Amino acid sequence: SLTDKLSSALRNLRGVGKLTEENMADALKEVRTALLSADVHFKVAREFIERVQTACVGQEVLKGVAPGQQIVKIINDELVRLLGEGTNELSSARPLKVLMVGLHGSGKTTSTAKLGKLLKKRGYRPFVVGCDVYRPAAIDQLEILAKQEELGFYSDRVSKDVPAIGAAGLAAAHAANADAIFFDTAGRLQIDSDLIEEVKKLRERIKPDEILLVADGALGQEAVNVAKAFHDALGLTGLILTKLDGDARGGAALSIKSITGVPIKFVGTGEKTADFDTFYPDRLASRILGMGDVVSLVERAQENIDQKEAEKMAEKMRKADFNLEDFLAQMQQIKKLGSMQSIMGMMPGMSGMQIPDDAEDQMGRTEAIIKSMTIQERRKPDILNGNRRLRIANGAGVKVLEVNQLLKQFQQMQKMMKMLKGGGAKKMMRQMEA
Ligand code: GDP
Ligand code: MG
Repeated sequence: SLTDKLSSALRNLRGVGKLTEENMADALKEVRTALLSADVHFKVAREFIERVQTACVGQEVLKGVAPGQQIVKIINDELVRLLGEGTNELSSARPLKVLMVGLHGSGKTTSTAKLGKLLKKRGYRPFVVGCDVYRPAAIDQLEILAKQEELGFYSDRVSKDVPAIGAAGLAAAHAANADAIFFDTAGRLQIDSDLIEEVKKLRERIKPDEILLVADGALGQEAVNVAKAFHDALGLTGLILTKLDGDARGGAALSIKSITGVPIKFVGTGEKTADFDTFYPDRLASRILGMGDVVSLVERAQENIDQKEAEKMAEKMRKADFNLEDFLAQMQQIKKLGSMQSIMGMMPGMSGMQIPDDAEDQMGRTEAIIKSMTIQERRKPDILNGNRRLRIANGAGVKVLEVNQLLKQFQQMQKMMKMLKGGGAKKMMRQMEA
């Protein structure tokens, strides 16, 4: 309704001053919940929030956005920075040797083929070596994918000596003149020292340029232990985050990144070999925060809201000296942000909300009504008697009833502002935000 829009406008204008621990508390709580429900490790979430809080305190509150939105944007920027640290490029070594490690079912074999396909497109001659000797089906799986993508392939279905298979695979790859060689390894359901020892020996034999941890995007709190164990033992050079086509919000990536500092290089987005992408931190950040596009809303506000104009308006409101002319200007500011539907779509928790079809119509009619008034009438709405109202309704092409409704809403707003002026401001704000 129009009143809702007004109160949100008022709330936006309230932002005079700086971000403080108090006015940030609610927003930070919301962000913490978002991080935890995205499966970010609780310690990682806590440290991250503390860091952001320190960075936020004392910052000027932007006019035109609620402080909460501004905080989400600051947090998002920090998240993008953190997730994006390091390069998502692979080592430029040729031949390039890549060791794929991770838990069972994380997507190692699939990602091996995906990465092979990707590098083939980039002009490499890829070759895959099956080092998962515990399940014969694992070798078959890799071989089928290699055939399908026309990648070189080597494995050994008899030997259980993983380092020896790796060395033989490397020789086969050299013989085939391959220049991107991938070693697909076995996983376990949980991190275990036998597995780690075996992969360590394999690493010594093949001396990989990249050791990529393949992690399921839905990995929960255990992501930290998994990443730490692999990183301590092997020295990871990158992370592949898989299954981002599912519901997983991908918080594991933040946990792993924070704990190991290892750059995220690729993401898997489906079962097919083409479902693979280089990593973009901004996309993952908004997925983790689940804040719709608050961020772009804030950016748009930064661009579009005239700061001086907003300050002038806030001052008028404080003095309860806000007339219909200001009201019109206010509405035009809101309109600059875009359509109501697109604005709501960007607000967390509101993206599913239906805006009445006529919301924008209604705003347009309100605008028409005010524009049909003389300047004097806009500044002193008290003088609007029956005759004047009829003239305005005719001028705007609306019913007198609508003019009356608008004036009533405006009066309510003025009343609120008078209350704000004389104390009770805090209580009022809380009411408006509820
Ligand atoms: P591994 O045990 O680590 O080698 O895992 P696999 O490569 O065999 O993958 C385990 C399962 O996850 C298979 O059914 C894959 O098709 C599936 N999978 C792997 N990556 C993705 C992905 O990015 N998205 C989806 N939806 N499924 C994936
Ligand atoms: Mg496998």
